[in-house]
Amino acid sequence: MAESRIRVSRLAQSIPPSETLATSAKVRVLQSKGVPVIDLTVGEPHLDPPQVLRDKAKEAVDLGLTRYKHAPVNGSLELRTRIARKFREENGIDYSPEEVTIGNGAKGVLDNAFTALLDPGDEVLIISPYWVTTPQQVRLAGGTPVFVPTDRDFMPTVEGVEAKITSKTKVLSLNSPNNPTGTKYREKLLRGFADLAITHDLVVVDDGIYEYISFDGQKHVSIASLGDEIRARTISVNGHSKSHSIPGWRDGYAGGPENAINVMNNVQSQRSGGPSAITQYVALAAFDVPFDSERLESFRVRRDLMVREAEDLGTLSLPKPPEGAFYGFLEMSEALMDKLRKRADASKYGSVSEIAAGVLLDEAHVAVMPGKPFGSDRHIRVSNALKDPDDIPKAFAKIRDAF
Ligand code: PLP
Repeated sequence: MAESRIRVSRLAQSIPPSETLATSAKVRVLQSKGVPVIDLTVGEPHLDPPQVLRDKAKEAVDLGLTRYKHAPVNGSLELRTRIARKFREENGIDYSPEEVTIGNGAKGVLDNAFTALLDPGDEVLIISPYWVTTPQQVRLAGGTPVFVPTDRDFMPTVEGVEAKITSKTKVLSLNSPNNPTGTKYREKLLRGFADLAITHDLVVVDDGIYEYISFDGQKHVSIASLGDEIRARTISVNGHSKSHSIPGWRDGYAGGPENAINVMNNVQSQRSGGPSAITQYVALAAFDVPFDSERLESFRVRRDLMVREAEDLGTLSLPKPPEGAFYGFLEMSEALMDKLRKRADASKYGSVSEIAAGVLLDEAHVAVMPGKPFGSDRHIRVSNALKDPDDIPKAFAKIRDAF
């Protein structure tokens, strides 16, 4: 057979595959060979979707919601109205249904937002560590990611963000509670960011997908709720993937000023088209299924187990207990990094966090994410959203033995 004659675009070629999805694929290959891997890479909740949502999905099929008209590009008016109510009642932000867009997962909505906002060369401030996808979406939209470092405790500062602002800065990207660190931003910090955005004419893209998975007892603060001026320059993104355990059904939405939302809808109309009619039918019902204390408790048990186990690892540590989401971003000791770099097979794996993740997968059969694609090569990311919480101490025992 002739070799492929297809030359892919230079920009597209420079985009790595989603590291999280790629590692999951490796894990599945090992599992299919009968290797008992404990998978700490998963970016999805351990819980099943509530029964009522599963019933709604079937009902949508039976109702015959199959046509384009059931999946309007910006989402159904009924669902946008319900989302506007959620933003008003839970986040203190007033959006009209015209100021709401529905997309294919929060990821799809974020992609629409960066495409709608960025011209070539525009800079986007991304607080590091960050979700692996954010810089790549920025690059695909023609923008330039600019990383804002944080201290050992992963908490950004207003001064740290301000130091990175240039004449090209267009957007400040926020994600609280944060993937991968679990850091939550308090109102005082967000007020500081809001002032910066107003002073320097920035747009804020605020990703609140982990809003409900929060352990510090503090109310989630959406930056757009902090005044008219900041509302007028913020896109607030959310969805039910994490809270209602439907990541594969691709439900996501955003609120923001109508001119930007309209452009996001135009982008979506030429790309994926509107979000699935079945998912929209489910999403409407999801707003009436509260994220109750039982669901939160289930995440808390796992987080607490992870925090306890991390305390006596020795070679790795959690700089502070995560306040939200379901990950731990574990810092490697200098001694561990030294030892890993000196391994005879180090070059097979790559950078030091990739060596750590590769060795754990190959020798301990524990899958973790290297920290590098999240912005720190000194860390590895573990997810604690495991069906069986007993797998958490088991996995940490294996990590302890391997290192
Ligand atoms: N934002 C962050 C920070 C995430 O971690 C994820 C998923 O991992 C998403 C957005 C995407 O969510 P969705 O599955 O709704 O596309």
